[in-house]
Amino acid sequence: MNPAPHDLGAAARLQQVRLRIAQAARAAGRDPAAVRLLAVSKTFGAEAVAEMAACGQTEFGENYVQEAVAKIDALRSRWPALCWHYIGPLQSNKTRDVAERFDWVHSLDRLDLAQRLSAQRPAERAADVLAPLQVCLQVNVSGEASKRGVAPQQLPALAQQVARLPGLRLRGLMCIPAPAAELAAQREPFARLRELQRQLAQSGLALDTLSMGMSADLEAAILEGATIVRVGSALFGPRAAR
Ligand SMILES: *Cc1c(COP(=O)(O)O)cnc(C)c1O
Repeated sequence: MNPAPHDLGAAARLQQVRLRIAQAARAAGRDPAAVRLLAVSKTFGAEAVAEMAACGQTEFGENYVQEAVAKIDALRSRWPALCWHYIGPLQSNKTRDVAERFDWVHSLDRLDLAQRLSAQRPAERAADVLAPLQVCLQVNVSGEASKRGVAPQQLPALAQQVARLPGLRLRGLMCIPAPAAELAAQREPFARLRELQRQLAQSGLALDTLSMGMSADLEAAILEGATIVRVGSALFGPRAAR
């Protein structure tokens, strides 16, 4: 029996998650290096992020703009090379903070929000190679189970429009399926997302990113081709209700 995540130190939890990723990648016949680990630090403070950063983790995901901005600003001087991904719900009155502070957005699902992010993206992100905001379109692959995400039928049109925005670079697709216990059931929505990526590629839009898989289902996601897994509780321990 493995100890609960909160019984281990940050380094041990990180090592355990990296091992899960490597094992799943090998089981899928994939290179473990082709799967990036995004550490989802929502509800945990700047010190928890700094502790993970000291263990070698560089990419962090946040869900709440206000909370994230405080953390990013608190850590900037000590950890200037961290890469920040916004994965939470987008609201039009918060797009400026997202466009100015983050490197990636995974939760884009509307053209008007994409247009705002593009217009508000600063032309020169200081010392940054990735000037455009890297974005993934969130797709509602579980139907009525989630209200968020673009419907699969509307994805091709939205993708074509977002791909043309100058301040953004469309990188891929993201999903948050309804939780499922069995591996086969977990794989199903991830396979649907991969199929949507394949269809977009056929229509001339090649995207290199599939952001899918969390603490409970990252193996299933990697088997279906995830290139970024978003892992919170397995790295930081259980979250307090917010
Ligand atoms: C919280 C969250 C995660 C991480 O979830 P865990 O189950 O803690 O790994 C991943 N993606 C999104 C969009 C989240 O909101």
